[in-house]
Amino acid sequence: MTQERLREGAKAFAKKVFDDIREFSRDPVVGISRQGYGPLENQAHEYLKNIARELDLEIKVDRCGNLFLTLPGKDRSLPCYMTGSHADSVPQGGHYDGLAGVVAAITTLWWMRKIGFQPKRDVTMVVFRMEESSWFGKAYVGSLAMAGQLTREDLALKHRNKDQTLAEAIREAGFDPEDMVKTEPSIDFSKIAAFTELHIEQGPTLDSQDKARVGIVTGIRGNLRHKTCRCIGQTAHSGAVDKQYRHDAVMAMAEMLHRMEKHWAEWLVRGEDLVFTVGVFKTAPSSAIAIIPGEVSFSVDMRSLSMDTLDRFHKLLVAECDAVGADRGVHFEFDRTLVCKAADVDKKLFNHLKDAAQKAGIDVMDIPSGAGHDSAVMADMGVPVTMIFVANQDGSHNANEKMKLEDFMLGTEVLFTSIATYD
Ligand SMILES: [Zn+2]
Repeated sequence: MTQERLREGAKAFAKKVFDDIREFSRDPVVGISRQGYGPLENQAHEYLKNIARELDLEIKVDRCGNLFLTLPGKDRSLPCYMTGSHADSVPQGGHYDGLAGVVAAITTLWWMRKIGFQPKRDVTMVVFRMEESSWFGKAYVGSLAMAGQLTREDLALKHRNKDQTLAEAIREAGFDPEDMVKTEPSIDFSKIAAFTELHIEQGPTLDSQDKARVGIVTGIRGNLRHKTCRCIGQTAHSGAVDKQYRHDAVMAMAEMLHRMEKHWAEWLVRGEDLVFTVGVFKTAPSSAIAIIPGEVSFSVDMRSLSMDTLDRFHKLLVAECDAVGADRGVHFEFDRTLVCKAADVDKKLFNHLKDAAQKAGIDVMDIPSGAGHDSAVMADMGVPVTMIFVANQDGSHNANEKMKLEDFMLGTEVLFTSIATYD
């Protein structure tokens, strides 16, 4: 088979896998609903096992339900090259979040079988269980359990709209919740030489590029958050109080946010990686058109590849709140600081991926990962990790999420080349 015919064959194979899984995953109202540890996630796993049988791959399921499909290498004593992603979706979500990495992995194995390529080391495809937090409020359930990091409190979490705990859902899917909270990992992480997860970008950067439709991830951003902070001033009559006597919480917030946005822009010019969002902003329930607002509650979400950047920007936020508070006679209250660590990609593996893209003649660009992924758990377990991003349209975690198959195949070819040329 010529290289071109092979590419077309791989594309047709990938399209069929996407189409087949879409067919049984449709939400009755809109989009795709494949709940982690739900019947449709199970069905996706069974579907992939059938393909694995056709391709003569080894099939393993760990005690947490994560699926491993292995194409045996020449030297089975070597640690494997692992790739894959998650097969669950958010409620009424899109078709490509998670699934793109699963289809890229199975397409890579299909491709290797078609050309009769046996790699030096095992290539193992992993399908993680329940990555999405939207069903039970906990992200990375499958990979955390695999790492021995899921807790009993996690098992007690309630389903978003059913009277069911996570433990009950896991039992219903055919697994033992007790097995999920064992503290020793379910697999030997030292037997993984490299892990590469392909994922849709879920942002607009790659889709805005003419040439580079594929990104090599430079790191996974950590975040620093506050769920509910407050700015407290003085509630008063909007007609009866002149400007110099006011302690308007909305005006104070406006000034504080304006200052922070200016700092943010300056920090970006200095080369720091940073995004800053106040996604919740509410005046008091008693607020009204003729009342000077005496209280605003708000959230804070800042993310960066550097935890040091987050720490310093957080200190700056507190200092600016103090300054604005002193100027305007208001004060700010912060709730508990929630921190999620950033994950580094492996420098050597990153360079290897860039080389692989060059060998395959595919333009790529460096890009940070704003969202969290199972890859972060793998990195935390000491596995050298990288990610490949593929351009997608109309965002993610919604039913309109789109991806072009041509772009997906470029990413898959980078993945294929990276694995095929690893040794
Ligand atoms: Zn995902």
